[in-house]
Amino acid sequence: SYPIDVASIREDFPILDRKVGGDFTVPGEGEDDDLPLVYLDNAATSQTPKQVVDAIVDYYYGYNSNVHRGIHHLSQEASVAYENAHDRVAEFVGAAGREEIVFTKNTTEAMNLVAYAWGLEELGEGDTVVLTEMEHHASLVTWQQIAKKTGASVEYIGVDEEGRLDMDHAAELIDEDVKMVSTVHVSNTLGTINPVAELAEMAHEAGAYVFVDGAQAVPTRPVDVKEIDADFYAFSGHKMLGPTGIGVLYGKEEILEEMSPYLYGGEMIRSVTYEDSTWEDLPWKFEAGTPVIEQGIALHAAIDYLDDIGMENVQAHEELLAEYAYDRLTELDDVEIYGPPGDDRGGLVAFNLDGVHAHDLSSILNDHAVAVRAGDHCTQPLHDKLGVAASTRASFYVYNTFEEIDKLVEAVDDARQLFA
Ligand code: PMP
Repeated sequence: SYPIDVASIREDFPILDRKVGGDFTVPGEGEDDDLPLVYLDNAATSQTPKQVVDAIVDYYYGYNSNVHRGIHHLSQEASVAYENAHDRVAEFVGAAGREEIVFTKNTTEAMNLVAYAWGLEELGEGDTVVLTEMEHHASLVTWQQIAKKTGASVEYIGVDEEGRLDMDHAAELIDEDVKMVSTVHVSNTLGTINPVAELAEMAHEAGAYVFVDGAQAVPTRPVDVKEIDADFYAFSGHKMLGPTGIGVLYGKEEILEEMSPYLYGGEMIRSVTYEDSTWEDLPWKFEAGTPVIEQGIALHAAIDYLDDIGMENVQAHEELLAEYAYDRLTELDDVEIYGPPGDDRGGLVAFNLDGVHAHDLSSILNDHAVAVRAGDHCTQPLHDKLGVAASTRASFYVYNTFEEIDKLVEAVDDARQLFA
């Protein structure tokens, strides 16, 4: 049995009733759309419950309007809803308040915001940015390029055989030259849950800031940014039952206060003359132009939905499915799984079937209506280190079942026989 009521949760997701197959160039008009969808690509994007879609519909049918500047009724309603969404996010991740919550387009933009607004000003020759070998490109490429622009160097905390961070190596690397430690919280490839609080402590002792990429963590477990003592923490709405087009940057108020804006324009200024300008209060200083109003309101609804389930329960469900998938896939002896053991990982399993390219495998899985991801999952250097070009990743969420994992395993077994 499950720690959550999967059957009733599934009723909130109409897309899970879809059948797929055949020619999919025209959405919904496949030639033989006859197999029930098994959606196991949640680490890329989760599905959206009716409650979240309803919040979007209510906004557009009821009070669609620009925020902040209007004194008319609709604008006030939209402003209150948009501002409340910041409060709700703050509460959800343990931030002090809306002043610490900046809405961005996604995790990637949150990362770029800090890299440009903080990194370009604060980094220089002789400074080091410490990353991990399992960083997503969102963090790896961004810091790599900002380091190139500023003359800073980049070092990587190594990953051991089991896919865990080598904390002795971390201790060696994090010295007084380090200005930023940027680490993924839950790896989107290995499923490793990193000791981010410990890394934050090490960073702070060395006088560095810590940025935590929580794209895979916030959707799947309780996260408290103050407990971690992160200076910055980022995640995306579309991986936690929310819409695309919204991400969140948490930043400690005193740090955000000190930072210059990243984007300039309307909505982020207090006063402007032909000569100079001053900035709005936090968080609006970092939200230039018409912001992600609909998306923010919908993210609020997604958080309400997750909170109703309870994040401890979401985590328990994730762990249960990850362990089951790990064990079942391990039974197929020519499958190699990356990352820590089944009982100590986030809700995803990336693997390879011996002698079969991940793209071929996922294409066969697709014939079974099993949706997974094949590729390097935006961790190309990590795949290079693992000695493979790509892997197949199945990732689970609140609506997934043991039966769906059985279908995945059957499909992998089918591929195995086909390519034998
Ligand atoms: N970091 C991690 C760990 C991720 O899994 C992802 C999404 N694959 C990202 C960052 C980037 O998220 P987004 O594409 O929403 O910016």
